[in-house]
Amino acid sequence: MKRFFLGTMLIWLVFSGIYSQDNAIKKGLDVLSEQAVRAQLDFLASDWMEGRETGEKGIDMAADYIASMFQVYGLQPADFQKDRDGFAGWGNRRGGAGTGDRMNYFQEFALMKTENSDNHELAVITETHGSRKTTRFAYSNDFGFMNRPIISQEGEFPVVFVGYGLVNKEVDYDDYAGVTVKGKVVVRLIGFPGHRDTTSTAYKKFHPGGNEWTKYREELDRNELAIEKGAVAVIAVFTTRDITLDFAKNVFRYNFGDYEGDVPPVSSHTNRMYFPGDTVSKSIPVFSATHRVANELTTGTKVSLETFEKQVQETMKPDSRELRDKRVYFRQTVKTSVIVARNVLGMIEGKNPDEILVVGAHYDHLGKYDGNVYNGSDDNASGTVAVMSIARACMATGIKPERTLIFAAWTAEEKGLLGSEFFTEHPPAGNIIAYLNYDMISRNDDTDSSGVKCSMTYTQSFSTLEDISRKYNEQCGLGLQIQYKPREKPTGGSDHNAFVHKNIPVFYYMAGWHDDYHKPGDHPEKADIDKMTRLTKLGFLSIWDMANGDSLPARQ
Ligand SMILES: [Zn+2]
Repeated sequence: MKRFFLGTMLIWLVFSGIYSQDNAIKKGLDVLSEQAVRAQLDFLASDWMEGRETGEKGIDMAADYIASMFQVYGLQPADFQKDRDGFAGWGNRRGGAGTGDRMNYFQEFALMKTENSDNHELAVITETHGSRKTTRFAYSNDFGFMNRPIISQEGEFPVVFVGYGLVNKEVDYDDYAGVTVKGKVVVRLIGFPGHRDTTSTAYKKFHPGGNEWTKYREELDRNELAIEKGAVAVIAVFTTRDITLDFAKNVFRYNFGDYEGDVPPVSSHTNRMYFPGDTVSKSIPVFSATHRVANELTTGTKVSLETFEKQVQETMKPDSRELRDKRVYFRQTVKTSVIVARNVLGMIEGKNPDEILVVGAHYDHLGKYDGNVYNGSDDNASGTVAVMSIARACMATGIKPERTLIFAAWTAEEKGLLGSEFFTEHPPAGNIIAYLNYDMISRNDDTDSSGVKCSMTYTQSFSTLEDISRKYNEQCGLGLQIQYKPREKPTGGSDHNAFVHKNIPVFYYMAGWHDDYHKPGDHPEKADIDKMTRLTKLGFLSIWDMANGDSLPARQ
């Protein structure tokens, strides 16, 4: 009976291509029910997952759950790592859903993890007339870091004052002219010539424009410049404000909505992760230091920070010099460990496996801190459920697509978009022709009382991406009010970033900003399941169209 039915189906498929495609899509849409979406979201965003922080137990549970679902839906594992390592199954050594002979849906890689330590030293050494004085400063009292240390380093070095550490060829200004900083500690001020007086000529000449954020970025770039020049450390001094207040401890408990605790609520991870790479040479300490440190460095030298600022505002000429009788000793201690991170990858092989479409969302979040679980329901259990659901819908069509589909749950997005970056650096054989990203698709912003607003960011030169989205939103009566955001290079913010860097066309759905973003209150009961389901349907229809039709994202 069953065999007879399949045979009939096959003949039917051959003779009525169009009808069968419509029928297949209907089958796909049928499995995208609000109930199924709700069920998966509630589990993935439950306290059992402990906030799904990369490197912790909860995320491994989440990964195993996603892999199990892929297996239930009948997806093939898309495990490219076995090609890299030379034999299959290597990635199974950690147990979980991939244990033993079971299918391996994991793309594993190592990440270095550094944790905050307060074991750092900074001392100023003054050598005069054959005597030597060492003044030791305390971490988190007199100095902190502008960067995040990733390796332990120690040494004693000569010191050079380099003004603002600024090089601006357009106005012929170079704080590094006439001094060598290679192998030395660089002391520099935050700001630029004339920054204290907005009416000064210097201010108008050097004003970098932009907002506080762009100014901050510029300061970070100047630290990078010092590294390029060969400095072994940077000591940055804020002259317009006293950073001592930043180090001051509060004695009360913190109350922020759902949150109450002894430490401030974390808005991002307290540790840092990065690819081990082959070199540590570019990692140097960038200290931010109080005026006490700055004064100890300049007392008895020809440099006075106040005099320099007044003078450079007038002359607009640098006055960099080595601080002859001074040396700086520092010891930076970093606690590191190596963790295993896992992307979860499922695949539906197409008739033409050289052409690949990728649907992805990050499944990691911030973990748990100080008794609070950061469930990350909207960010981004919601997107992960969309990926799993679209995979299920594609399988439910019962049709082998023309092109290959890869479904990806990315790890370590919250640690710096690392999972998707690893994938694009270790891609499957073939051509990735488009990437669909989901990040935060279940909430409504303040202006969206009826739950219809969302955005689609996409690679501008591939306007068919917008056409396809518009077509299905209308044709299937999804009723979404989509703000289309074409961008030449839509980088930043989420996992589409890595694909953009590889010149792969991307489109990226997001629902709405809300106050629970990166807070413990990002709970599944606040999700707009109806909206989330509609966004999932739209993704399925678009991606299925691209996997089978001619409306590929061709450059316009
Ligand atoms: Zn996030």
